[in-house]
Amino acid sequence: MSICKKIIISGYFSIFSTLLIKKKMGCTANGTTPSIDKRSLSSTNGTRPTLSSNSVLALTTGDPTVFQPFWRKMGDKSKVVIDGGELMSYFSDVGNVCWFLEPELGDAIRRLHRVVGNAVTEDRHIVVGTGSTQLFQAALYALTIPAAAGVELEPVSVVSSAPYYSSYPEVVDCLRSGLYKWGGDACSFDKDGPYIEVVNSPNNPDGTLRESVVKSGQGNVIYDLAYYWPQYTAITSAADHDIMLFTCSKCTGHAGSRIGWALVKDKDIAKKMTQYITITSIGVSKESQFRTAKIMGVICDGCQNVGSAESENFFEYARELMSKRWQKLREALQHSKCLSLFKYPRERCLFTGELNERLPAFAWLECKEGIKDCEEFLRGFDIVGRGGKAFGADPKFTRISLLCREEDFNGVIERLLAIKGIRNGN
Ligand code: PMP
Repeated sequence: MSICKKIIISGYFSIFSTLLIKKKMGCTANGTTPSIDKRSLSSTNGTRPTLSSNSVLALTTGDPTVFQPFWRKMGDKSKVVIDGGELMSYFSDVGNVCWFLEPELGDAIRRLHRVVGNAVTEDRHIVVGTGSTQLFQAALYALTIPAAAGVELEPVSVVSSAPYYSSYPEVVDCLRSGLYKWGGDACSFDKDGPYIEVVNSPNNPDGTLRESVVKSGQGNVIYDLAYYWPQYTAITSAADHDIMLFTCSKCTGHAGSRIGWALVKDKDIAKKMTQYITITSIGVSKESQFRTAKIMGVICDGCQNVGSAESENFFEYARELMSKRWQKLREALQHSKCLSLFKYPRERCLFTGELNERLPAFAWLECKEGIKDCEEFLRGFDIVGRGGKAFGADPKFTRISLLCREEDFNGVIERLLAIKGIRNGN
Protein backbone atom coordinates (compact mmCIF):
# COMPACT_ATOMS: atom_id res chain seq x y z
CA MET A 1 0.00 0.00 0.00
CA SER A 2 1.36 3.45 -0.84
CA ILE A 3 2.15 5.86 1.98
CA CYS A 4 -0.44 8.13 0.48
CA LYS A 5 -3.23 5.56 0.77
CA LYS A 6 -2.22 4.66 4.32
CA ILE A 7 -2.50 8.26 5.40
CA ILE A 8 -5.82 8.81 3.74
CA ILE A 9 -7.28 5.68 5.30
CA SER A 10 -5.98 6.45 8.80
CA GLY A 11 -7.28 9.97 8.29
CA TYR A 12 -10.81 8.67 7.80
CA PHE A 13 -11.09 7.56 11.43
CA SER A 14 -11.06 11.08 12.70
CA ILE A 15 -12.84 12.50 9.69
CA PHE A 16 -15.69 10.06 10.09
CA SER A 17 -16.67 11.43 13.47
CA THR A 18 -16.30 14.96 12.12
CA LEU A 19 -18.67 14.15 9.32
CA LEU A 20 -21.33 12.96 11.73
CA ILE A 21 -21.16 16.20 13.65
CA LYS A 22 -21.03 18.31 10.50
CA LYS A 23 -24.02 16.51 9.05
CA LYS A 24 -26.05 17.39 12.09
CA MET A 25 -24.96 21.04 11.88
CA GLY A 26 -25.18 21.30 8.11
CA CYS A 27 -23.10 23.48 5.82
CA THR A 28 -24.28 27.07 5.42
CA ALA A 29 -25.51 28.33 2.09
CA ASN A 30 -22.60 30.68 1.49
CA GLY A 31 -20.20 27.81 1.90
CA THR A 32 -18.84 28.85 5.27
CA THR A 33 -19.08 26.36 8.07
CA PRO A 34 -20.18 26.62 11.64
CA SER A 35 -17.47 25.83 14.16
CA ILE A 36 -16.51 22.16 14.43
CA ASP A 37 -16.43 20.15 17.60
CA LYS A 38 -12.66 19.90 17.55
CA ARG A 39 -12.58 16.85 19.80
CA SER A 40 -13.58 14.90 16.73
CA LEU A 41 -10.20 15.62 15.15
CA SER A 42 -8.16 14.15 17.98
CA SER A 43 -4.92 12.53 16.96
CA THR A 44 -4.26 8.97 17.97
CA ASN A 45 -0.56 8.79 17.21
CA GLY A 46 0.43 10.66 20.36
CA THR A 47 3.33 12.54 18.72
CA ARG A 48 2.38 16.17 18.52
CA PRO A 49 -0.90 17.79 19.48
CA THR A 50 -1.69 19.14 16.00
CA LEU A 51 -4.95 17.29 15.71
CA SER A 52 -5.87 17.28 19.37
CA SER A 53 -8.76 19.24 20.76
CA ASN A 54 -8.90 22.94 19.95
CA SER A 55 -6.00 22.69 17.51
CA VAL A 56 -5.83 25.11 14.65
CA LEU A 57 -3.44 24.43 11.79
CA ALA A 58 -1.70 27.72 11.10
CA LEU A 59 -0.11 27.58 7.67
CA THR A 60 0.20 31.28 7.06
CA THR A 61 4.00 31.44 6.92
CA GLY A 62 6.40 29.45 4.78
CA ASP A 63 8.44 28.16 7.73
CA PRO A 64 10.53 25.49 5.97
CA THR A 65 10.58 22.81 8.69
CA VAL A 66 9.73 20.22 6.03
CA PHE A 67 13.44 19.61 5.39
CA GLN A 68 14.43 19.11 9.04
CA PRO A 69 14.54 15.25 8.89
CA PHE A 70 17.23 15.41 6.19
CA TRP A 71 19.46 17.66 8.28
CA ARG A 72 18.89 15.59 11.40
CA LYS A 73 20.00 12.56 9.38
CA MET A 74 23.17 14.39 8.32
CA GLY A 75 24.17 14.69 11.98
CA ASP A 76 27.86 15.48 12.46
CA LYS A 77 28.42 16.00 8.74
CA SER A 78 26.65 19.35 8.92
CA LYS A 79 27.80 20.29 12.41
CA VAL A 80 29.82 23.46 13.05
CA VAL A 81 31.79 24.25 16.16
CA ILE A 82 32.90 27.79 16.86
CA ASP A 83 35.28 28.68 19.67
CA GLY A 84 34.72 31.75 21.80
CA GLY A 85 37.81 33.36 20.36
CA GLU A 86 36.74 33.04 16.73
CA LEU A 87 34.79 35.31 14.37
CA MET A 88 34.97 38.30 16.68
CA SER A 89 35.77 41.12 14.28
CA TYR A 90 33.22 43.17 12.32
CA PHE A 91 35.35 42.58 9.24
CA SER A 92 35.68 39.57 6.94
CA ASP A 93 37.33 40.59 3.69
CA VAL A 94 38.21 44.29 3.55
CA GLY A 95 39.36 44.03 -0.07
CA ASN A 96 35.91 42.90 -1.22
CA VAL A 97 33.01 45.21 -2.19
CA CYS A 98 30.96 43.37 0.44
CA TRP A 99 33.54 43.62 3.22
CA PHE A 100 31.50 41.58 5.71
CA LEU A 101 31.09 38.55 3.39
CA GLU A 102 33.03 35.57 4.76
CA PRO A 103 35.18 34.27 1.86
CA GLU A 104 34.11 30.66 2.66
CA LEU A 105 30.49 31.65 2.16
CA GLY A 106 31.26 33.47 -1.09
CA ASP A 107 33.02 30.34 -2.39
CA ALA A 108 30.19 28.06 -1.21
CA ILE A 109 27.56 30.23 -2.94
CA ARG A 110 29.47 30.15 -6.24
CA ARG A 111 29.95 26.38 -5.96
CA LEU A 112 26.27 25.79 -5.18
CA HIS A 113 25.11 27.78 -8.22
CA ARG A 114 27.64 25.96 -10.42
CA VAL A 115 26.40 22.58 -9.17
CA VAL A 116 22.71 23.42 -9.60
CA GLY A 117 23.12 25.57 -12.71
CA ASN A 118 20.38 27.99 -11.67
CA ALA A 119 22.28 31.30 -11.84
CA VAL A 120 25.28 32.92 -13.46
CA THR A 121 27.90 33.91 -10.89
CA GLU A 122 30.78 34.89 -13.18
CA ASP A 123 31.55 38.61 -13.03
CA ARG A 124 28.99 39.11 -10.26
CA HIS A 125 29.42 40.67 -6.86
CA ILE A 126 27.96 38.74 -3.96
CA VAL A 127 26.30 40.77 -1.24
CA VAL A 128 25.25 38.82 1.84
CA GLY A 129 22.26 39.92 3.91
CA THR A 130 20.25 39.05 6.98
CA GLY A 131 17.78 37.09 4.89
CA SER A 132 16.86 38.17 1.41
CA THR A 133 14.37 40.46 3.15
CA GLN A 134 17.23 42.77 4.09
CA LEU A 135 18.74 42.48 0.61
CA PHE A 136 15.44 43.50 -0.97
CA GLN A 137 15.55 46.69 1.09
CA ALA A 138 19.22 47.15 0.26
CA ALA A 139 18.42 46.89 -3.45
CA LEU A 140 15.58 49.43 -3.14
CA TYR A 141 17.97 51.83 -1.42
CA ALA A 142 20.73 51.25 -3.98
CA LEU A 143 18.40 51.87 -6.91
CA THR A 144 16.83 55.03 -5.52
CA ILE A 145 19.41 56.90 -3.42
CA PRO A 146 20.27 60.13 -5.31
CA ALA A 147 23.87 60.55 -6.46
CA ALA A 148 24.18 63.91 -4.72
CA ALA A 149 23.11 64.81 -1.19
CA GLY A 150 20.22 67.24 -0.78
CA VAL A 151 18.46 66.31 -4.03
CA GLU A 152 14.71 66.00 -3.45
CA LEU A 153 13.01 63.58 -5.82
CA GLU A 154 9.56 61.97 -5.94
CA PRO A 155 9.52 58.51 -4.30
CA VAL A 156 10.02 55.81 -6.95
CA SER A 157 7.11 53.38 -7.42
CA VAL A 158 7.83 49.73 -6.57
CA VAL A 159 5.51 47.30 -8.34
CA SER A 160 5.03 43.55 -8.76
CA SER A 161 2.47 41.48 -10.69
CA ALA A 162 -0.46 40.32 -8.58
CA PRO A 163 -0.69 37.97 -6.87
CA TYR A 164 2.59 39.19 -5.35
CA TYR A 165 4.47 38.12 -2.21
CA SER A 166 2.56 39.82 0.61
CA SER A 167 5.71 41.17 2.28
CA TYR A 168 6.64 43.40 -0.66
CA PRO A 169 4.08 46.15 0.08
CA GLU A 170 4.72 45.83 3.84
CA VAL A 171 8.49 46.16 3.49
CA VAL A 172 8.31 48.95 0.92
CA ASP A 173 5.92 51.14 2.91
CA CYS A 174 6.85 50.31 6.50
CA LEU A 175 9.14 53.33 7.03
CA ARG A 176 7.30 55.65 4.61
CA SER A 177 10.55 56.27 2.83
CA GLY A 178 11.07 59.39 0.79
CA LEU A 179 13.02 57.27 -1.72
CA TYR A 180 10.39 54.75 -2.80
CA LYS A 181 6.76 53.77 -2.28
CA TRP A 182 4.55 50.80 -3.05
CA GLY A 183 2.89 51.15 -6.48
CA GLY A 184 0.76 47.98 -6.52
CA ASP A 185 0.14 45.53 -9.34
CA ALA A 186 2.76 45.82 -12.08
CA CYS A 187 0.17 44.79 -14.69
CA SER A 188 -1.83 47.97 -14.18
CA PHE A 189 1.13 50.32 -13.65
CA ASP A 190 1.16 53.00 -16.34
CA LYS A 191 2.99 55.99 -14.81
CA ASP A 192 5.83 57.70 -16.63
CA GLY A 193 9.21 57.99 -14.98
CA PRO A 194 11.40 55.68 -12.96
CA TYR A 195 10.02 52.57 -11.27
CA ILE A 196 11.26 49.33 -9.75
CA GLU A 197 9.61 46.03 -10.62
CA VAL A 198 10.06 42.97 -8.41
CA VAL A 199 9.81 39.70 -10.27
CA ASN A 200 9.40 36.62 -8.12
CA SER A 201 9.87 33.42 -10.08
CA PRO A 202 8.61 30.81 -9.28
CA ASN A 203 6.10 33.13 -7.70
CA ASN A 204 4.97 33.14 -4.10
CA PRO A 205 1.97 32.59 -3.71
CA ASP A 206 0.81 30.93 -6.95
CA GLY A 207 3.91 29.05 -8.19
CA THR A 208 3.83 30.58 -11.69
CA LEU A 209 7.01 31.45 -13.58
CA ARG A 210 7.34 35.18 -14.09
CA GLU A 211 9.08 37.76 -16.24
CA SER A 212 8.97 41.53 -16.00
CA VAL A 213 5.77 43.06 -17.38
CA VAL A 214 6.41 46.82 -17.26
CA LYS A 215 8.09 47.82 -20.49
CA SER A 216 8.53 51.59 -20.18
CA GLY A 217 12.32 51.42 -20.25
CA GLN A 218 12.92 53.70 -17.25
CA GLY A 219 12.78 50.98 -14.67
CA ASN A 220 14.99 48.59 -12.79
CA VAL A 221 14.08 45.00 -12.06
CA ILE A 222 14.88 43.03 -8.91
CA TYR A 223 14.62 39.28 -9.46
CA ASP A 224 13.60 37.46 -6.30
CA LEU A 225 14.61 33.86 -7.05
CA ALA A 226 13.95 32.45 -3.58
CA TYR A 227 12.23 29.37 -5.06
CA TYR A 228 14.39 28.79 -8.12
CA TRP A 229 15.77 25.50 -6.77
CA PRO A 230 15.28 21.94 -8.03
CA GLN A 231 12.93 20.86 -5.22
CA TYR A 232 10.33 23.39 -6.41
CA THR A 233 10.79 23.70 -10.14
CA ALA A 234 12.72 22.57 -13.19
CA ILE A 235 15.97 24.47 -13.65
CA THR A 236 15.55 25.52 -17.27
CA SER A 237 18.52 27.90 -17.59
CA ALA A 238 21.07 29.76 -15.52
CA ALA A 239 19.33 33.00 -14.49
CA ASP A 240 21.28 35.98 -15.74
CA HIS A 241 19.85 39.24 -14.44
CA ASP A 242 21.34 42.44 -13.04
CA ILE A 243 20.09 41.90 -9.47
CA MET A 244 19.13 38.43 -8.27
CA LEU A 245 18.13 37.58 -4.70
CA PHE A 246 18.39 34.15 -3.11
CA THR A 247 17.78 32.88 0.39
CA CYS A 248 18.93 29.99 2.49
CA SER A 249 15.44 29.88 4.01
CA LYS A 250 13.96 28.27 0.91
CA CYS A 251 17.05 26.69 -0.60
CA THR A 252 18.33 24.57 2.30
CA GLY A 253 15.48 25.20 4.77
CA HIS A 254 17.66 27.10 7.27
CA ALA A 255 15.38 30.09 7.74
CA GLY A 256 16.67 30.51 11.30
CA SER A 257 20.18 31.33 10.10
CA ARG A 258 18.76 34.39 8.33
CA ILE A 259 21.17 34.26 5.41
CA GLY A 260 20.33 35.61 1.97
CA TRP A 261 22.59 36.65 -0.86
CA ALA A 262 22.40 38.89 -3.90
CA LEU A 263 24.22 38.35 -7.18
CA VAL A 264 24.80 41.83 -8.56
CA LYS A 265 26.24 42.76 -11.93
CA ASP A 266 26.96 46.43 -11.35
CA LYS A 267 29.72 47.25 -8.88
CA ASP A 268 28.21 50.59 -7.90
CA ILE A 269 24.85 48.96 -7.04
CA ALA A 270 26.66 46.24 -5.03
CA LYS A 271 28.54 49.00 -3.16
CA LYS A 272 25.33 50.84 -2.33
CA MET A 273 23.64 47.64 -1.17
CA THR A 274 26.66 46.99 1.05
CA GLN A 275 26.38 50.56 2.33
CA TYR A 276 22.72 49.99 3.27
CA ILE A 277 23.60 46.85 5.26
CA THR A 278 26.49 48.70 6.88
CA ILE A 279 24.17 51.49 7.99
CA THR A 280 21.36 49.23 9.19
CA SER A 281 23.25 46.33 10.81
CA ILE A 282 27.03 46.80 10.32
CA GLY A 283 27.27 43.52 8.48
CA VAL A 284 25.75 40.06 8.85
CA SER A 285 26.28 37.41 11.55
CA LYS A 286 29.50 35.50 10.92
CA GLU A 287 28.28 32.46 12.84
CA SER A 288 25.38 32.24 10.42
CA GLN A 289 27.64 32.71 7.39
CA PHE A 290 30.01 30.05 8.65
CA ARG A 291 27.19 27.57 9.26
CA THR A 292 25.61 28.32 5.88
CA ALA A 293 28.92 27.71 4.09
CA LYS A 294 29.09 24.33 5.81
CA ILE A 295 25.50 23.42 4.91
CA MET A 296 26.03 24.43 1.28
CA GLY A 297 29.20 22.35 1.18
CA VAL A 298 27.25 19.31 2.44
CA ILE A 299 24.63 19.87 -0.28
CA CYS A 300 27.24 20.16 -3.04
CA ASP A 301 29.16 17.09 -1.80
CA GLY A 302 25.88 15.16 -1.73
CA CYS A 303 25.01 16.21 -5.30
CA GLN A 304 28.49 15.38 -6.54
CA ASN A 305 28.82 12.21 -4.47
CA VAL A 306 31.91 13.49 -2.71
CA GLY A 307 32.31 11.19 0.28
CA SER A 308 28.56 10.73 0.58
CA ALA A 309 25.95 8.17 -0.33
CA GLU A 310 23.46 8.71 -3.14
CA SER A 311 20.69 9.07 -0.57
CA GLU A 312 22.47 12.19 0.65
CA ASN A 313 21.50 14.26 -2.37
CA PHE A 314 19.50 17.01 -0.66
CA PHE A 315 17.64 18.19 -3.76
CA GLU A 316 16.58 14.66 -4.66
CA TYR A 317 15.33 14.12 -1.12
CA ALA A 318 13.54 17.47 -1.03
CA ARG A 319 11.98 16.99 -4.49
CA GLU A 320 10.61 13.61 -3.56
CA LEU A 321 9.12 15.02 -0.38
CA MET A 322 7.47 17.91 -2.20
CA SER A 323 6.25 15.55 -4.90
CA LYS A 324 4.56 13.28 -2.32
CA ARG A 325 2.91 16.30 -0.71
CA TRP A 326 1.57 17.58 -4.01
CA GLN A 327 0.28 14.15 -4.92
CA LYS A 328 -1.59 13.83 -1.61
CA LEU A 329 -2.96 17.34 -1.93
CA ARG A 330 -4.19 16.79 -5.49
CA GLU A 331 -5.79 13.49 -4.47
CA ALA A 332 -7.51 15.14 -1.52
CA LEU A 333 -8.97 17.86 -3.75
CA GLN A 334 -9.83 15.67 -6.70
CA HIS A 335 -13.55 16.11 -7.49
CA SER A 336 -13.83 18.69 -4.69
CA LYS A 337 -16.86 20.91 -5.08
CA CYS A 338 -15.32 23.65 -2.93
CA LEU A 339 -11.65 24.02 -3.74
CA SER A 340 -9.38 23.76 -6.74
CA LEU A 341 -5.67 24.01 -7.51
CA PHE A 342 -3.61 25.28 -10.44
CA LYS A 343 -2.17 22.81 -12.89
CA TYR A 344 1.46 23.41 -13.86
CA PRO A 345 3.25 22.27 -17.00
CA ARG A 346 6.18 19.84 -16.87
CA GLU A 347 9.54 21.20 -17.95
CA ARG A 348 12.90 19.69 -18.79
CA CYS A 349 15.23 20.23 -15.83
CA LEU A 350 18.91 20.77 -16.55
CA PHE A 351 19.81 19.69 -13.02
CA THR A 352 17.93 16.37 -12.86
CA GLY A 353 17.98 15.75 -16.63
CA GLU A 354 14.31 14.79 -16.38
CA LEU A 355 10.93 16.19 -17.31
CA ASN A 356 9.95 17.67 -13.96
CA GLU A 357 6.65 18.71 -12.48
CA ARG A 358 6.49 22.08 -10.72
CA LEU A 359 6.14 21.59 -6.95
CA PRO A 360 5.56 25.03 -5.42
CA ALA A 361 6.20 25.70 -1.76
CA PHE A 362 2.64 26.95 -1.36
CA ALA A 363 -0.77 25.73 -2.46
CA TRP A 364 -2.81 28.57 -3.94
CA LEU A 365 -6.31 27.33 -3.25
CA GLU A 366 -9.27 28.74 -5.12
CA CYS A 367 -12.80 28.45 -3.78
CA LYS A 368 -15.60 27.47 -6.11
CA GLU A 369 -19.40 27.68 -6.09
CA GLY A 370 -19.97 31.16 -4.78
CA ILE A 371 -17.72 30.84 -1.74
CA LYS A 372 -16.44 34.38 -1.65
CA ASP A 373 -13.88 34.29 1.13
CA CYS A 374 -11.60 31.28 0.99
CA GLU A 375 -9.63 32.23 4.11
CA GLU A 376 -12.80 32.42 6.18
CA PHE A 377 -14.12 29.22 4.65
CA LEU A 378 -10.98 27.28 5.60
CA ARG A 379 -10.94 28.82 9.06
CA GLY A 380 -14.28 27.08 9.62
CA PHE A 381 -12.26 23.86 9.39
CA ASP A 382 -9.42 25.19 11.53
CA ILE A 383 -7.04 25.59 8.62
CA VAL A 384 -5.52 29.05 8.76
CA GLY A 385 -4.02 30.24 5.49
CA ARG A 386 -3.39 33.72 4.16
CA GLY A 387 -6.23 35.17 2.09
CA GLY A 388 -5.89 36.44 -1.48
CA LYS A 389 -6.28 40.10 -0.48
CA ALA A 390 -2.84 40.18 1.18
CA PHE A 391 -1.33 39.26 -2.19
CA GLY A 392 -3.31 41.85 -4.17
CA ALA A 393 -5.69 39.11 -5.37
CA ASP A 394 -9.33 38.05 -4.97
CA PRO A 395 -10.39 36.77 -1.51
CA LYS A 396 -11.65 33.60 -3.22
CA PHE A 397 -7.97 32.52 -3.07
CA THR A 398 -5.97 31.43 -0.03
CA ARG A 399 -2.36 30.44 0.27
CA ILE A 400 -1.35 27.59 2.53
CA SER A 401 2.24 26.57 3.16
CA LEU A 402 3.41 23.12 2.12
CA LEU A 403 6.74 23.54 3.89
CA CYS A 404 5.34 22.64 7.30
CA ARG A 405 6.11 19.55 9.41
CA GLU A 406 4.74 16.20 8.28
CA GLU A 407 2.08 15.93 10.99
CA ASP A 408 0.71 19.39 10.21
CA PHE A 409 0.62 18.58 6.53
CA ASN A 410 -1.24 15.33 7.21
CA GLY A 411 -3.64 17.28 9.41
CA VAL A 412 -4.43 19.59 6.53
CA ILE A 413 -5.06 16.67 4.21
CA GLU A 414 -7.47 15.14 6.74
CA ARG A 415 -9.36 18.39 7.03
CA LEU A 416 -9.50 18.93 3.29
CA LEU A 417 -10.92 15.43 2.90
CA ALA A 418 -13.48 16.27 5.55
CA ILE A 419 -14.57 19.36 3.61
CA LYS A 420 -14.87 17.29 0.45
CA GLY A 421 -16.96 14.68 2.22
CA ILE A 422 -19.38 17.23 3.65
CA ARG A 423 -19.85 19.16 0.46
CA ASN A 424 -20.38 15.98 -1.51
CA GLY A 425 -23.17 15.24 0.95
CA ASN A 426 -21.62 12.10 2.41
N1 PMP B 1 11.11 36.31 -1.10
C1 PMP B 1 10.11 35.44 -1.12
C2 PMP B 1 9.33 35.28 -2.36
C3 PMP B 1 9.79 34.71 0.02
O1 PMP B 1 8.76 33.86 0.00
C4 PMP B 1 10.54 34.91 1.19
C5 PMP B 1 10.25 34.15 2.45
N2 PMP B 1 8.95 33.88 2.72
C6 PMP B 1 11.56 35.84 1.16
C7 PMP B 1 11.81 36.52 0.00
C8 PMP B 1 12.35 36.19 2.39
O2 PMP B 1 13.25 35.25 2.74
P1 PMP B 1 14.27 35.45 3.96
O3 PMP B 1 13.88 34.44 4.97
O4 PMP B 1 15.60 35.19 3.37
O5 PMP B 1 14.17 36.85 4.46
